[in-house]
Amino acid sequence: MKKSVLAAAMLLGLLVAGCDEQQTSADSGLVLAGKTMGTQWRVSLAGVPDDRQEALRSKIQQLLDNDDHELSTWKKDSVLSRFNQAHDNRPQPISPEMADIITMSLRIGRLTQGAMDITVGPLVNLWGFGPDRQPSHTPSQTEINAAKAQIGLQHLQVIERADGAYLQKDLPGLYVDLSTMGEGFATDHLARLMEQEGINNYLVSVGGAVLTRGHNAAGNAWRVAIQKPTDRENAVQARVDLQGHGISTSGSYRNYYELDGKRISHVIDPQTGQPIEHRLVSATVIATTALEADGWDTGLMVLGTEKAKALALREKLAVYLITKDKEGFSSWMSPQFRAFLLQDDSASR
Ligand code: FAD
Repeated sequence: MKKSVLAAAMLLGLLVAGCDEQQTSADSGLVLAGKTMGTQWRVSLAGVPDDRQEALRSKIQQLLDNDDHELSTWKKDSVLSRFNQAHDNRPQPISPEMADIITMSLRIGRLTQGAMDITVGPLVNLWGFGPDRQPSHTPSQTEINAAKAQIGLQHLQVIERADGAYLQKDLPGLYVDLSTMGEGFATDHLARLMEQEGINNYLVSVGGAVLTRGHNAAGNAWRVAIQKPTDRENAVQARVDLQGHGISTSGSYRNYYELDGKRISHVIDPQTGQPIEHRLVSATVIATTALEADGWDTGLMVLGTEKAKALALREKLAVYLITKDKEGFSSWMSPQFRAFLLQDDSASR
């Protein structure tokens, strides 16, 4: 099985129910949903009349299709795939949006000391989590070393010039994989679209990245739930009021497959070239943008519980970690995360 039935994209409990179909309800506000980037998008709106739904739905899908065409490594003709295929070390022109994503990725990459590394693509593909097929055997050390020789953030740079932004690599086989950032980027993009449409009360999400603003149809703050790391879909671990921020979760317990009797996670440690095996099962981050949250969560997953805690405290990040232990699971949150916790949940901790 390439991905478990519910991919990691569904880690945030709020998103689980009824994502496939477009729905409307007078009581719950307008809810639109659809598919993009191998996962699902969802937009919940308050105070928007039903007769706007078709026009909005079409604008949302078009925006996401454009992002997919820009960022996908699953589409051979995307802007990113063409950069990856070009064995050319001259600077290639890129859009301001692509420059923003890569600049943010390089920054988080540096601050996680390379744990989050968007050049990890050859390893992601080797382990069968990219567009290539899942391997029939555990990759050999020789194969892992060959893939590792093709990665490294130091080989990629964004160049800002008066006539625009450029992306340059100095390693011909460098393969940029923005799977860890794309959902957050697209979520922020949806939020900007809502603002352009004059909509001020919304919850937008793509996969495991969410951003909210204002209130829901009942006039209450949007509540986002972090799921418990179990196979039960709606078991809630904690609930937050995002207060206009973005949130993203990365986890190892839903997006995996079994190979040679081992559970293979989709999060790869660039240093070892191996899928992570430690006890940290999910990392949730709240940040100013969903893009930033989406970058940090994967880096923290690679680092494991103790290093992730230290980094969260050092960088003053709003982080919630769930770790597997002898008794089951334990959780930890940084002081910055606690500020977003709903009052009821906060009192019980
Ligand atoms: P996250 O934790 O946010 O990211 C994990 C992913 O990042 C891994 O799956 C891997 O790709 C990569 N990664 C692993 N280790 C690292 C590391 N150390 N540093 C940086 N990155 C790492 N999936 C499909 O099945 N079909 C598609 O057509 C498809 N199209 C996509 C198009 C786009 C533009 C994007 C962004 C993704 C697409 N995906 C597709 C992938 C998929 O939907 C998810 O984005 C992906 O599985 C990871 O998201 P996540 O939230 O589960 O995990």
